Amino acid sequence: SLTEKLGQALRNLRGVGTLSEENMAEALKEVRSALLSADVHFKVAREFVERVQQQAVGQQVTKGIAPGQQVIKIIHDELVRLLGEGTTALSGERPLKVLMVGLHGSGKTTSTAKLGKLLKKRGYRPFVVACDVYRPAAIDQLEILAKQEELGFYADRVSKDVPAIGSAALAEAQAATADCIIFDTAGRLQIDQDLIEEVKRLRARVQPDEVLLVADGALGQEAVNVAKAFHDALQLTGLVLTKMDGDARGGAALSIKTITGVPIKFVGTGEKTADFEPFHPDRLASRILGMGDVVSLVEKAQETIDQKDAEKMAEKLRKADFNLEDFLAQMQQVKKMGSMQSIVGMLPGMSGMQLPEGADKQMARTEAIIKSMTFQERRKPEILNGSRRKRIADGSGTKIVEVNQLLKQFSEMQKMMRMFKGGGGKKMMRQLEA
Ligand code: GDP
Ligand code: MG
Repeated sequence: SLTEKLGQALRNLRGVGTLSEENMAEALKEVRSALLSADVHFKVAREFVERVQQQAVGQQVTKGIAPGQQVIKIIHDELVRLLGEGTTALSGERPLKVLMVGLHGSGKTTSTAKLGKLLKKRGYRPFVVACDVYRPAAIDQLEILAKQEELGFYADRVSKDVPAIGSAALAEAQAATADCIIFDTAGRLQIDQDLIEEVKRLRARVQPDEVLLVADGALGQEAVNVAKAFHDALQLTGLVLTKMDGDARGGAALSIKTITGVPIKFVGTGEKTADFEPFHPDRLASRILGMGDVVSLVEKAQETIDQKDAEKMAEKLRKADFNLEDFLAQMQQVKKMGSMQSIVGMLPGMSGMQLPEGADKQMARTEAIIKSMTFQERRKPEILNGSRRKRIADGSGTKIVEVNQLLKQFSEMQKMMRMFKGGGGKKMMRQLEA
């Protein structure tokens, strides 16, 4: 309806004042539940949101943006900053020694080969080592991948002495003039102290430059314990987030990052060895937050809505001399941002919402009606008698009832605006702005 549209226009115009606990509350609640449904650990989600909230209180709200939208942009930027802390680069040592650790099935063996392939492309001579000695199939799996990617390979199918295998592999690698050695290790479905001890001994023996935790992007609330156990025992230097080609939103990465502070270095995006790339924090932040894209809405609004126009319009609203012509201009401003449906789709919690069929069409009809009026009529709708209304309906291809409806709603709106202007106005305006 017109009232709703005008309400939308008012909302677009406000951007007055500062962020407060009250005007952020709703958006922050949505952010928290988005983080939880992305599998961010509940404590991590709560602490993260509270910290950003404290930083945001008192910040100026940009004109043309609602406080809730602004705070989501702030959250997003903070998420990008936090996830992107550190570097995706590996230690510059040569030979570069990398230890891959993680739970069973997280993607260690696959990622070992993927990393080997990537480093080969970067000019290294990689060598991969099978240290998962409990399952012959695991050794075969790595051997096949190494052959396929033409990487140096070492395994010992008899010994179960993992540190000794590590030492032997280093000697072999050196003989083969490899300058990058990646150790694939065994995992368990759950953290297993014996296994961790074994990897600790391997770590002590081969002195890796990098210890990368390989974690499934779908790892849920247990990510915190997994990360803590591996980090305490092995002093991780980075994280590889796998299976991000699936539905997982990857919230575990935020949990792990928060607990360990180590940088996220690579992302696995498929089963093939080429499906592996350096980490991009902005992509993951958008995915974890999963808010359609409020952020781009805010950016778009900042680009689109001319600050001076907005101020002028707000002034008119305050003085209650907002007429149909201004309304038309405002509607066109909103339209520049995209279709109503696409705008609604970018709002938090509303991404799934379908506008009633034809919301955009209705806006177009309203626009057509106003355009069919003369300038005088737009400024003084009270002169619109029956014959003028008929002319406008004909001119805009609408019906007289539609014209009447629009005018009725507009006059209600004007009455409300006059009330703002009067005694209780300031208070109501503040309510609208909050
Ligand atoms: P490991 O037990 O930690 O060594 O895990 P594997 O490397 O054997 O991987 C377990 C399963 O996950 C295998 O079927 C892999 O093909 C699959 N996998 C590993 N990384 C990815 C990935 O990034 N995307 C997808 N879709 N599958 C992956
Ligand atoms: Mg494996």
